[in-house]
Amino acid sequence: MLDFEYTMFSAHVVFGRGTIERLPSIAEGLGGRRILVLSTPEQTALAERVAGSLGDRSVGIFGEARMHTPVDVTERAMTVVADRAADLIVATGGGSTTGLGKAIALRSGLPVVALPTTYAGSEMTAVLGETRDGLKTTLTDPAVRPRAVIYDVDLTDTLPVGMSVVSGLNAMAHSVEALYAEKGNPVVTLFARQSITALAGGMRALVADPDDGEARSQLLYGAWLAGTCLGLVGMALHHKLCHVLGGTFDLPHAQTHAVVLPHAVAYNSSHAGRAMADLARALGVSDPVAGLFDLARDVGAPTRLADLGMPRDGIEKAAGLAVRNAYWNPREITLDGMRTLLANAFDGRRPD
Ligand code: NAD
Repeated sequence: MLDFEYTMFSAHVVFGRGTIERLPSIAEGLGGRRILVLSTPEQTALAERVAGSLGDRSVGIFGEARMHTPVDVTERAMTVVADRAADLIVATGGGSTTGLGKAIALRSGLPVVALPTTYAGSEMTAVLGETRDGLKTTLTDPAVRPRAVIYDVDLTDTLPVGMSVVSGLNAMAHSVEALYAEKGNPVVTLFARQSITALAGGMRALVADPDDGEARSQLLYGAWLAGTCLGLVGMALHHKLCHVLGGTFDLPHAQTHAVVLPHAVAYNSSHAGRAMADLARALGVSDPVAGLFDLARDVGAPTRLADLGMPRDGIEKAAGLAVRNAYWNPREITLDGMRTLLANAFDGRRPD
């Protein structure tokens, strides 16, 4: 029996190669006359190029975006926004830069145009995680969702293969958890299945040939769909665990997702039969849990939390944090279950 709710959100999405050329007209459509471009310190050259394409509508760049949206960085950016009387923000980069754009939108109400250069998917969500004094808090507010998203595959060509595969698995995690989401619906399932197929195929093709432009296109397309899933339905155990691990041991975001995903899915598999059948079909395998693990291993992604810098005695701490604060998951979350799951992920054991 079909029985569901579906709430759409509006975002103008442009996808292709060379689509960055559309930025000036999209910015103008949003009333941008004084446009500030954001980036991380590593991507300021790209930000300068983007600012240059805006001509005298650019008021320059702010190139200090960092992982987990530290509030002190946002406050410095807000000073620049005020000093230059910016009226539109262009976030050029991965989830960290998009996060800064969202934090500015939250404080100023300014519209944001996102130009994603990774597969994190933040550009399609109304979620913002901010860090103050090492403590991360997450809020959901439609005001932070970018008004337009320009996916230009050209911008992803520079993403190293290693980062591309972990970022691709980060995206895949959104789609996998969307398949068994509490408020899942047939449209999200369609997005999720197509996303998983595009991401898995794109990753394997890119690893086989790092210059494969079509693989890049498939990856970014899969990432857009995955971000849409993340923006439409709530996530569960996998995202909670990654949040705990990232926050507690300062583990790298995308790599943590890559390691944990097969283990979280193994834990949930007995309570998410239809989702597992969808996942198997999307991956083109008979065993979806083994399929996820083998995909990560085949594309050279990390498979052990130990290799990401987590201490072994962190297993007990993380298991305790994972059972604190109830949240929805298809299967009850037990302390023993979390201990086993995390120990397997720590040592990189192939889940069964
Ligand atoms: P990132 O944005 O931190 O980028 C990682 C590094 O790669 C940076 O140095 C960046 O400059 C560089 N980089 C990015 N694109 C590149 C490219 N095309 N070529 C060369 N270098 C490139 O990493 P991320 O994984 O995209 O984002 C992680 C952050 O996003 C985390 O803080 C996470 O919490 C957040 N996030 C938020 C949401 C949400 O919905 N709020 C969703 C996903 C991720």
